[in-house]
Amino acid sequence: MQKNEPIRMCIACRERDLQKKLIRLQQNNNNIFPYTGQGRSFYLCSLCSENEKKIKGLVKRFRLSTDDSERFVKYLKELNKNG
Ligand SMILES: [Zn+2]
Repeated sequence: MQKNEPIRMCIACRERDLQKKLIRLQQNNNNIFPYTGQGRSFYLCSLCSENEKKIKGLVKRFRLSTDDSERFVKYLKELNKNG
C-alpha cells in the first residue's frame, strides 16, 4: 500500500521532505513568523534552520530589517532547542 504523505520543499536548499518534518513559516510585511493558518506559507528544513549561512540568505531574500531578522533567528534557535 502506498503512503500518501504530503511532501514539501525547503525554500533554502530545495530539498523535499515530509511536510511534518519541515518547519512551516509565513512571511508578511517583511517579517517572518510561524504559520498562523492564513496566507502564504513556506517551509524550512531543520538542517537549514540551523545553518547560519542559509538563514542569512533568507533574511536577504525577504529583505528583513535587522530587528525582524534577529527575531527570526532567535525563533529558529528556540525551535531547535526545543526539538
Ligand atoms: Zn533546507
